Amino acid sequence: MFLKGAPRPPRNLVAAITGITVVPLAVLLWLGWRLLDQDRLLENQRAQERLERAADLAASALQRLVSGSEQRVTVSGNEWPAGAVALTFGRDRMEADPPGRLAYLPVAPTLPEPPPSAFAAGEELEFRRHDRDGAIAVYRQLAKSPDAAVRAGALLRLARNLKSDGRTEEALTNYAELSRMDGVAVAGTPMGLIAEYARCEIYAESGRGVELRREADKLAGGLGVGRWPLTNAAYWLYAQDAAKWTGGESHGPLPSEIFAAAAAELWNRRTRMTPSGREALTIEGRKLAAIWQTERDSLRVLLATPEFVETQWLAPARQPGTNIALATASLTLERRALRGTADTGLPWPIAVTYADPTAPDAEFVLRRRLLVAGFGLLALMALAASYLIFRAVNRELAVARLQSDFVAAVSHEFRTPLTTIRQFTDMLRNNRNLAEERRRLCYDAQARATDRLIRLVESLLDFGRMEAGARTFRFERSDCSELVRQTVDEFRRDASSAKYEIEVQAESAAETEVDIEALARAVWNLLENAVKYSPEQRSVAVGVERCNGCVRIAVRDYGIGIPADERSAIFARFRRGEEARKLGIKGTGIGLAMVDQIVRAHQGRIELESELGRGSTFTIVLPVKEPQWHES
Ligand code: ADP
Repeated sequence: MFLKGAPRPPRNLVAAITGITVVPLAVLLWLGWRLLDQDRLLENQRAQERLERAADLAASALQRLVSGSEQRVTVSGNEWPAGAVALTFGRDRMEADPPGRLAYLPVAPTLPEPPPSAFAAGEELEFRRHDRDGAIAVYRQLAKSPDAAVRAGALLRLARNLKSDGRTEEALTNYAELSRMDGVAVAGTPMGLIAEYARCEIYAESGRGVELRREADKLAGGLGVGRWPLTNAAYWLYAQDAAKWTGGESHGPLPSEIFAAAAAELWNRRTRMTPSGREALTIEGRKLAAIWQTERDSLRVLLATPEFVETQWLAPARQPGTNIALATASLTLERRALRGTADTGLPWPIAVTYADPTAPDAEFVLRRRLLVAGFGLLALMALAASYLIFRAVNRELAVARLQSDFVAAVSHEFRTPLTTIRQFTDMLRNNRNLAEERRRLCYDAQARATDRLIRLVESLLDFGRMEAGARTFRFERSDCSELVRQTVDEFRRDASSAKYEIEVQAESAAETEVDIEALARAVWNLLENAVKYSPEQRSVAVGVERCNGCVRIAVRDYGIGIPADERSAIFARFRRGEEARKLGIKGTGIGLAMVDQIVRAHQGRIELESELGRGSTFTIVLPVKEPQWHES
């Protein structure tokens, strides 16, 4: 950006421009950041409010759903989906609906039992006389009885004797038949269970692993779905063996066991319970919801697992775009609205969250992007504006400096001839008897100095007129070769060219439209530079030639040359080369600017070839055209 030789920007200007750019930019960024922060807070607040509204709606929907279930529990014959069971507590018995969801009951119903007297004859043979075959025959007969209880009792005794007799397969068949007779019991234990258990025992004793496994699975399955009405103690007695036989993969408590334990707990405190209520139970670490209502003289209870709560109550209460879940105490960063048991009617608090946690932020993200882009643009504009201001101010400063340099240089240029005139005038005045020859020398020196002054003044005036656009060019058809020859001749007479060899090679006729005076000045300026910047190699070559539709006037020297990075800058006004300054060669920096102006007025161009330390060639290229009057 800065030309060689041009003044560098002052430090305080750089600091000032940086200050007026950086400070507002920093303030702008800070404000932007604050704005974004506020916006984020506001957006968070809005998102939370929306969630709270959704939670309110969900809570009232839940109230309705739970009350609906509460109403339903008072009516029997409902189809309760998995995860729930309805209990009816009577005075001394309890019923479950559906029945298979409880592994055991707080009070087991009494099943009919066969009268012991029916088997007196068989038992006489079996135990007193040890006549097993006789006993088997009696029992076989009884097993055909139309009375189911008698039939069951006979089958049990028959199978027992067959087993003791080593007739395992027959015993198994009889137990299999007995296992289908769930409605009869012996000492409170259902026949079916006794038979299933006995089959397992036979397989276990005879080491028949595969069959044992199959039978034990059946036994465990029956126990798990509450096939037999058992008490807590009886259930666990059989369940433990069944688990042992099935291979005993330890799993957590079955849902039916949890329900059974909950039913037992509520049964124990049924007399102390309020007529209606809702409660969260924890059975072996599992949660259950209990809702109860008193209906005439019975208490109706609904037990529900969290899965039931989620599918039957929470899912229908869900508001669009949100999720509801039972609230856990775990720390969560998610946005959520909590509702307690008082709001929902559920025994657990719930948490309402956004189905897509990023959704509420989408608008904010868009706004933030727009804001950031806006601020970015503003910052960019501020930077660009500062840069432009900086460049403009810097340029003005540079021109001002160049101008002051110019004034100093011009004063310097004036001083030399003025000093000469002064010296010789003093000499003439003080030495009246000076010899004629010496007097002549003094006059010659004064004349040369005056010529130089006149040329300097004329050149300055011309430059001023050209700069102001007031210089009128008068074009006339002339022979450039002749013009160049004359200018070189004149230049040879000038003091500055003394000791320089100037060779001219000019084609005879190189005619075109030119302003003679202006072109002569341009050539003069080039000649003046050629000798000025060639302190050692004292020969200059000037050539004029015609080329394709143009005339080329070249001035070649073998002097200091011009570095590549200065080659275009030196045609600007007041601009001087670095080397010229260093070597202390005097100049004002307007010579080439004038050449450039003159050549442009002729619609020509100037070419420069140069090699550092080897010299330079300036070539004026003018178009050949018909005579015309032009104004610059
Ligand atoms: P100045 O008064 O400094 O000579 P000019 O406009 O004539 O002003 O030239 C501008 C600059 O170009 C000079 O200061 C010098 O550095 C460089 N220059 C011009 N002519 C020549 C040349 N023939 N050889 C080397 N440098 C030159």
